[in-house]
Amino acid sequence: MAERLKEEILHREKLVDIVAGPDAYRDLPRLLAVAESGQQAANVLLSLDETYADILPVQTSMGGTTAFVSIMRGCDNMCSYCIVPFTRGRERSRPIASILQEVRMLSDQGVKEVTLLGQNVNSFRDMSEVQFQSAAAPVLSRGFSTVYKAKPGGLRFAHLLDQVSRIDPEMRIRFTSPHPKDFPDEVLQLIQERHNICKQLHLPAQSGSTRVLEAMRRGYTREAYLELVHHVRESIPGVSLSSDFIAGFCGETEEDHQQTMSLLREVRYNVGFLFAYSMRQKTRAYHRLQDDVPADVKQRRLEELITVFREEAARANEAMVGQNQLVLVEGPSKRSPSELCGRNDGNIKVIFPDAETEDAAGCEAPGRAQPGDYVLVKVTSASSQTLKGALLCRTTLSRSAAPR
Ligand code: SF4
Repeated sequence: MAERLKEEILHREKLVDIVAGPDAYRDLPRLLAVAESGQQAANVLLSLDETYADILPVQTSMGGTTAFVSIMRGCDNMCSYCIVPFTRGRERSRPIASILQEVRMLSDQGVKEVTLLGQNVNSFRDMSEVQFQSAAAPVLSRGFSTVYKAKPGGLRFAHLLDQVSRIDPEMRIRFTSPHPKDFPDEVLQLIQERHNICKQLHLPAQSGSTRVLEAMRRGYTREAYLELVHHVRESIPGVSLSSDFIAGFCGETEEDHQQTMSLLREVRYNVGFLFAYSMRQKTRAYHRLQDDVPADVKQRRLEELITVFREEAARANEAMVGQNQLVLVEGPSKRSPSELCGRNDGNIKVIFPDAETEDAAGCEAPGRAQPGDYVLVKVTSASSQTLKGALLCRTTLSRSAAPR
């Protein structure tokens, strides 16, 4: 947006002193100095190698309990509806050594959950170490393809995940946003084996119709996607799944829409991000396709998708009633000061009473749970978005994972 609207914002509207694009972080001191001297300043250049490596302070939330670590930027996939490859540029990954250093620092600060971030996080490929530059190209998920030629060389996501998860056994690791094509067995196996890598995968589907997926240039069919879902569920029992869907993409018929509804029913996601299609300039769809689904039809289809998603998510979450869930405490619940809230391994919000825990076998010292503590909560009710439960005890990530 900064690139597209620079002239208008700076000169015509005279709204701001500085226009900074997504790759201008390191240039901010200069831009501020220029602005302080009374001139307007702009940097909207896209960088070929900016990865946000070593930029401090790191983004934290929940009172310093959780943090986000950028590991790569950009995307090579060129889905026909998406502006990201134009606004964020091509894929480039941050050196592993710098990521590990940052995660170690967060561990020392007491951060309990790190989310590895990138536009295409599991396409991670660190080329900074010479001895790995000739490694073989990665294997894609079965039935998936790309519009670009697979690139050989570099240290891959499985290696990074392995190294990051070894830093602190009490630190949960999540990652987002991945592409479903990059889930080789070694990544799934690692997630299954490591107690501190959350059993939660985002598998953005976008549509349940092969015809629409082709128009979107997603590189898979409905069947290949469903096969991946089955394989993921076999490899990581109890995995929590989330997805993205677009309602009313160019040329989407009622039959295509019904296929997306049926995919939502078949997969039964725990979490979903659903949107009505909105055409973006510069994209392939903008140049080659017609945004021909009327706005009211898009809206109606979106509402139908949301209804089905919620029904299925409620069923998926109800299956947890009666189970004990390990929850990382975030703080007081927004709805009631006498309740705490946190998230389970599957990233679902859990609400429970703010009460004293008792001394029990297998538990940490009794007392009140604080933000950053792990607690065991017995789930007593569930909706499509939230679990409610009874607080059992304070515990640790390692202890809760140990066989009993
Ligand atoms: S939708 Fe995701 S994978 Fe596709 S081009 Fe955009 S960022 Fe890349």
